[in-house]
Amino acid sequence: MENSAKYFENRSCDYYPCHKGMEELNCLFCYCPFYGWEECPGKNEYVTKKDGRRIKVCTDCTFPHVPGNWEKVVGILKMGQQAYYKEKHPLPCKFYGIGVGPGEASLITKKASQILKLVDVLVLPGKKENCRAYDIAVEAMPEIAGKECVFLPFPMSMKEPELTAFHRAVAEQVTEFLKEGKSVGFLSIGDVTIYSTYAYVEQLVAEAGWETEYVNGIPSFLASAARLGVPLTLGSEEMHIIPGSADVETALMLPGTLVFMKSGKKLLELKTKLIELSKVKDMEVMAVSNCGMQNELVTIGAEKITEENGYLTVVIVRKKTCYQP
Ligand code: SF4
Repeated sequence: MENSAKYFENRSCDYYPCHKGMEELNCLFCYCPFYGWEECPGKNEYVTKKDGRRIKVCTDCTFPHVPGNWEKVVGILKMGQQAYYKEKHPLPCKFYGIGVGPGEASLITKKASQILKLVDVLVLPGKKENCRAYDIAVEAMPEIAGKECVFLPFPMSMKEPELTAFHRAVAEQVTEFLKEGKSVGFLSIGDVTIYSTYAYVEQLVAEAGWETEYVNGIPSFLASAARLGVPLTLGSEEMHIIPGSADVETALMLPGTLVFMKSGKKLLELKTKLIELSKVKDMEVMAVSNCGMQNELVTIGAEKITEENGYLTVVIVRKKTCYQP
């Protein structure tokens, strides 16, 4: 092939031909422009070094050097990394509820990150400036910051009928996008199956005849137990998850490990009852607030719980005595 603006062979290079067996080799893309792309049009493998670094190895790839591939290389570059990834992994037009985990970017699951990258639009409950689920997702994948997003602030009152009207408004917005043929993601802190607004909206969207999918995240109570370095259940022990709206006294009569979530204004009432109960019961009380976030707070002992622990606090009450196999 003749040298031109699209093809240049540098036979005087010390390394020519850097790929054995090629009779003609385009040196224009000597340093491959796709090297930084997680997925590229070439043939590669990833190896993990002893120090944990993950390296892309392109030894067997000739894609950028094949004579006649200039148009393909430039076409893919023009398309851009995200569009190329989306074309390779087409996503059905669905409403996805995506759990982004408790707060630490590294705790977003691989499946959740893949779907996050691929959805056309994100619909989020709340305001952008204080949407923690969005912040976690962007910290994990800065590239999604440019994605189309719609933030729908919660109503002033979290009671019926305002809340139902809000869920309907979100569902309408979601179905508008689905009608346009766009896949929609809805982010939820923790997991989407646990106290998530997604469940209410999903029901309405599914009733309207659209496909939906729950994509799990790590719930805060599991991450909190790991943060504390304790198991939640052993042997035949039970575990109960108790929301802030429940009656604390009744809940404390339940057997096994108790996990109190979203206690909110009832946190100090819970504290008082736990202090009383710990005088007569063999139990330990631990709390993790804002698990995995910069302002994470670990509290051991009911008496140390204060208002500062805040809304995103998980209180774990468990048997003190070690499990004897
Ligand atoms: S595999 Fe090929 S196309 Fe992909 S980065 Fe390596 S050299 Fe470039």
